[in-house]
Amino acid sequence: MSDMFERTYTMTIDGQPAVGTSTFDAIDPATEEVIASVPEASREQLDEAVAAAKQAFPAWSARPVAERQALVAKIGDVIEAHAEDFMRLLTLEQGKARKGAEWEIFGSVIWCREIATQSLSSEVVEQSEGRKVEVHRVPLGVVAGITPWNFPVLLAIWKIAPALVAGNTMVLKPSPFTPLCTLKLGELLRDVLPAGVLNVVSGGNELGAWLTGHKDVRKISFTGSTATGRKIMESAAGAIRRVTLELGGNDPAIVLPDVDVRETAKQLFWASFQNSAQFCVAAKRLYIHADIYDELAKELVDYAKTVTVGNGAHQGVDLGPIQNRMQFEKLKELLADAKENGLNFLLGGEVSDQPGFFVPITIIDNPPEDSRVVAEEAFGPILPLLKFDDIDDVIARANDTDYGLAASVWGKDVQQAEAIARRIEAGTVWINEIHSFSPHVAFGGHKQSGLGIENSLDGLAEYTNTQTVVTRDQLAALA
Ligand code: NAD
Repeated sequence: MSDMFERTYTMTIDGQPAVGTSTFDAIDPATEEVIASVPEASREQLDEAVAAAKQAFPAWSARPVAERQALVAKIGDVIEAHAEDFMRLLTLEQGKARKGAEWEIFGSVIWCREIATQSLSSEVVEQSEGRKVEVHRVPLGVVAGITPWNFPVLLAIWKIAPALVAGNTMVLKPSPFTPLCTLKLGELLRDVLPAGVLNVVSGGNELGAWLTGHKDVRKISFTGSTATGRKIMESAAGAIRRVTLELGGNDPAIVLPDVDVRETAKQLFWASFQNSAQFCVAAKRLYIHADIYDELAKELVDYAKTVTVGNGAHQGVDLGPIQNRMQFEKLKELLADAKENGLNFLLGGEVSDQPGFFVPITIIDNPPEDSRVVAEEAFGPILPLLKFDDIDDVIARANDTDYGLAASVWGKDVQQAEAIARRIEAGTVWINEIHSFSPHVAFGGHKQSGLGIENSLDGLAEYTNTQTVVTRDQLAALA
């Protein structure tokens, strides 16, 4: 990495570097070595960051939207100019392999540029002689952005870009497990954005709670677990803060008997294990038609054996470690539970005691529907294969969850697949593809997978209030 990326990491408050009153360690999940000392924001520093965002808001929101769009596009330029450093740092702190890091960093560049083409225009909804009703979209003020550790850069950009284009200012808090790229982004943007428009603070969950409960925060845009989402909604209730919540999922994939088994097995592998399955929209329950179950299971296992798990920084590695010890321990517990309950492992299941948070690719053969590996969001490379032979039954099983983030259907008969898709309770259903996202396509969860959406003009609108202005000519009123 270049010198710039190797030096210390500082928070950005009001356009200035800020060191914490204390620090915590960032860990390389592939080696468990300490890689950096991270500033921990005090409550006073959080207050300063919110105050800076509040102070910056009037001037920022008054700027022509074209100027705000240009600066958001420039964020993309900055990331692109430092792409190599960002990719290396992302692998170091998050663990993901090179291909995944490329997807995330260049995806972030694209998102900045594309969101920068979006804007919401005012709309005249009624017009008659002497009277006009016009609906404007006005920004909210200070937005709190809170991100998880699986895609720390891209998910931050999903918040920063629309919030700023819409005219808001932001205080952003990355996950304490993956703060480095976000802190670096804040540092690089000090010369790009006016002071106070984007503040980056780092710290633990307590800092998140201070931020979401701060009296001057008008909206919270959160991506993370459903459990934390619930707490955030509670803390937003007091001041009726707006919230967008992108939460957990336990996505089903339904595989129909007419698929090309070999090709689909490969696609399903990546649908499930991309980013070491630390993916909110990973296919987490594979429902496979009984007619092809054995063949597909074998193809999946065979393909899985060709995939290399290791230190993401090493050449030839496809999948990296689990990002943090907490998640690693949770996965070990799930594996122990599966063993205790006598589940049949087609692959994996044994965690070695080498350094690093490595969980092998694990595939479990038709466990009961109520086993923990099926009912819970594993958020790691433990995949249950489930057998079905009746469409109504499989749809009922797919929907039998409090989650509703995404799903996929795989089959040659596209009409049948579409009919199934329409009956699944999920915000996105892919057919014969998966994980295609776009800045222009709405993404959001049903049920306890979230509230509100990100991306698209509807996502942009979530960073605004409507303001209806009703105008009657005085002369017309007197007539
Ligand atoms: P998490 O909920 O533990 O933490 C997410 C963020 O919230 C972190 O920055 C954390 O410090 C902060 N936080 C924790 N407690 C808080 C509180 N009380 N108040 C305010 N902030 C608080 O989630 P995670 O473990 O980092 O991420 C994994 C989860 O995120 C999975 O469930 C996954 O499905 C979900 N996820 C969802 C999406 C989506 O778009 N729907 C995308 C990625 C991840």
